[in-house]
Amino acid sequence: MGTKGREIVGMDVQKVIELLNKAFADEWLAYYQYWLGAKVVAGPMKDGVIAELMEHAADELRHADMLTTRIVQLGGTPLITPQDWFKYANCGYDAPQDPFVQKIVEQNIKGEQCAISVYHRIMQEVGMKDPVTYNLALQILEDEVEHEEDLQSLLEDLNVILKK
Ligand code: FE
Ligand code: FE
Ligand code: MG
Repeated sequence: MGTKGREIVGMDVQKVIELLNKAFADEWLAYYQYWLGAKVVAGPMKDGVIAELMEHAADELRHADMLTTRIVQLGGTPLITPQDWFKYANCGYDAPQDPFVQKIVEQNIKGEQCAISVYHRIMQEVGMKDPVTYNLALQILEDEVEHEEDLQSLLEDLNVILKK
């Protein structure tokens, strides 16, 4: 990043890079969880669920892209090996072992709720000390809030169909 651009970061730049790299690990795992979930999911309303899961997968990959851009701007290195994703992730990975639609949607709701906490915490930690990262986290947070809502309304519809 330009020297002036880095100079205005009023906190430990390494700390910001670490927060961003941890979120970066989450995004790759979220991407894969959605993508694989869309391939294996079975049950009622399957087509609508697949479309939603694939849309969210694309969003998570875009989030990974946004995060790397900022990591590189700050002079950092994005995690260079997938093994690191498990080491650094805040939210982990929920394997879609049970392909039943309700189960898959529930797993991804849990993931979104974790993501919401992660970006909220990043915003609280960097605050106005790093307005560029703050704004990045806000943009991603807005998507995660929408993801959670989309999945919860899908789950509501599913529960009506499944009468529970
Ligand atoms: Fe995301
Ligand atoms: Fe999401
Ligand atoms: Mg959606």
